[in-house]
Amino acid sequence: MKFNTKLIHAGISQDQATGAVNVPIYQTSTYAQQELGGSPRYEYSRTGNPTREAVEKLIRDLENGAAGFAFASGSAAIHTVFTLFSTGDHIIVGNDVYGGTFRLINSVLKRLGLEFTTVDTRDLAAVKAAVKVNTKAIYLETPTNPLMRISDIAALAKLAHENELLTIVDNTFATPYIQRPLDLGADIVVHSASKYLGGHSDLVAGLVVTKNEQLGEKIGYLQNAIGGILGPQDSWLLQRGIKTLAVRMKAHEHNTQEIFSFLRSDDRIGKIYYPSDPEAPGYEIVKRQMNGFGGMLSFELKQGLSVKKFIENLSLITLAESLGSVESLVEVPAIMTHGSIPEEIRLKNGITNELIRLSVGIEEASDLVADLKNALAKA
Ligand SMILES: *Cc1c(COP(=O)(O)O)cnc(C)c1O
Repeated sequence: MKFNTKLIHAGISQDQATGAVNVPIYQTSTYAQQELGGSPRYEYSRTGNPTREAVEKLIRDLENGAAGFAFASGSAAIHTVFTLFSTGDHIIVGNDVYGGTFRLINSVLKRLGLEFTTVDTRDLAAVKAAVKVNTKAIYLETPTNPLMRISDIAALAKLAHENELLTIVDNTFATPYIQRPLDLGADIVVHSASKYLGGHSDLVAGLVVTKNEQLGEKIGYLQNAIGGILGPQDSWLLQRGIKTLAVRMKAHEHNTQEIFSFLRSDDRIGKIYYPSDPEAPGYEIVKRQMNGFGGMLSFELKQGLSVKKFIENLSLITLAESLGSVESLVEVPAIMTHGSIPEEIRLKNGITNELIRLSVGIEEASDLVADLKNALAKA
């Protein structure tokens, strides 16, 4: 089955009990058991629920993994993956990961005795130098948020395997439509399905896929033990969202390319960050590991223009956090998503006060460009 067909038919796509063409919402906590001491397929919905199982098998198949798991949020999914490790274990983390992941690491996991070193994962030598005797994993995002930095998943996974480390990739920005980290040698993929996979800003969910069965058993055990599962209603909504991933991603990318061309031609715009830029560092890796460029783009207004006036004069593009939905969203990382990073570190990392991040939706491209043009004129 090709990827676009899998979106509709992979995993469990119909109800096995009735033939309904959509898996229903099995709104139940428990299941009648036929015999005492038997081993029923379902016994309690934290452990297993048919609606959740349908979306778990779907993401498993989309990422070409051995097992998939659905959680109440991306953060819950990431937390559960980190509980694979024990006090004293060391993990190498990309220096440009999602703010909530940074917070989870620094204010929760370090307190529980996990050790972390943050490294620019574009730099293989730096990653190699960070490996210690107690290192157990490399955790990264690519492309990163908001500067679209690209790391070489295959090269990192090779380095990880040579050192007996797991490679864990947060694939939220690219989605399996564009990039499949397990095919490139990674061991675990995590998602905030609240973004492109759900795709409509109407749901918070997280997903994990493991490359092999053994890791799948471990994550399954932890999912049940910790209990941060996705409920049946949101599992259903997520499966419904995922079905249109291919058509949405095509439209996101088309619009983002149009906006990229417009911004490039306008001399009021400074740096632009989008993976389709052949002059950007990492473009060779993009060509190798990504099947497209996605719908996230960041750019800077030149000095002298007002970011505040620009943002407040957008009428179609909505000022909001989050990303990956059908409607276009804009945010200013320095004030919003990355506001908790100390200014000195933030500026050093390239996230300037003039940087604007767009999550380009699937509206008509010319309407989006007109909105940007109008706001620029007033900035
Ligand atoms: C949003 C996001 C998360 C966190 O997911 P939630 O569903 O909001 O908990 C993790 N990683 C990335 C890259 C994200 O964008």
